[in-house]
Amino acid sequence: RHQLVVDLRVAPVGDEYILVLADDRTEIARAQAVRSDFVANVSHELKTPVGAVSLMSEAIEASADDPEAVAHFTKKLQKEAKRLSALVQDIIELSRLQSTDVVRQSQLVDINNLVAESVDRNRLTAEDKSIQLQVGGSATRPVYGDRELLGTAVRNLIENAIRYSPENTKVGIGITQRDDAIKISIKDQGPGIPEDEQDRIFERFYRVDPARSRQTGGTGLGLSIVKHVVAQHSGEITLWSVPGEGSTFTLSIPAVDRVTEQDLLETSAPA
Ligand code: ADP
Repeated sequence: RHQLVVDLRVAPVGDEYILVLADDRTEIARAQAVRSDFVANVSHELKTPVGAVSLMSEAIEASADDPEAVAHFTKKLQKEAKRLSALVQDIIELSRLQSTDVVRQSQLVDINNLVAESVDRNRLTAEDKSIQLQVGGSATRPVYGDRELLGTAVRNLIENAIRYSPENTKVGIGITQRDDAIKISIKDQGPGIPEDEQDRIFERFYRVDPARSRQTGGTGLGLSIVKHVVAQHSGEITLWSVPGEGSTFTLSIPAVDRVTEQDLLETSAPA
């Protein structure tokens, strides 16, 4: 796994010496391997819904005389199309985050507002499972970053908490402020995550229970996206989880101090 990849070139210099050029290509080779792994994974993940969409459309055509069957296959077709669209969207988002030249729309971001919005966007899904969303705490400092990306990260964590929790449970979303960081925690009463899988779930397409993830519309990329967004904001993500008791994911993003906030406000104010 930690293989060194070196290009060696040897050239004679006169009669007495040889010149040895060693070009360390380890990093380049590693990046290439990661990329080709990703392409292989993506192809594998796309195959199932693409195949299903084509099968369902054939089934609809074949059952033209049977309105009930048409309705049944149409529903299935819509579900697969939705899954495909979520997958493509997440793949694009993750590729964008992984490229080094990602253009960020940085601004002062009010976390209270951002969390409230993310919660609102998940209310209906929570209601469908009679899950109560409880929001508590607030921050007085802003953070500096890409509002869109931070919103995606918070939403992904709330979506997961709802997706993996049983009905009639609670999901708590808390904001706390330390001197130098703002923490957003999402706590559920779901199945929890075994300790030996707690690191792995942040890898692309890693799922503890693949069937459950797919069935509930998961793309397997949500936490990878969260991890990248947090890294791009010099933040941290931590997980506390005990199987059978639930999980708490905590995002920690550096808070902007008052002096910097003032500077930023002045430089961004219209002349
Ligand atoms: P997915 O689309 O499968 O949810 P993620 O990257 O968001 O992909 O999560 C990876 C895996 O981590 C999930 O498939 C699930 O097994 C596990 N997981 C994530 N969040 C939770 C949670 N709140 N409770 C239990 N398991 C979770």
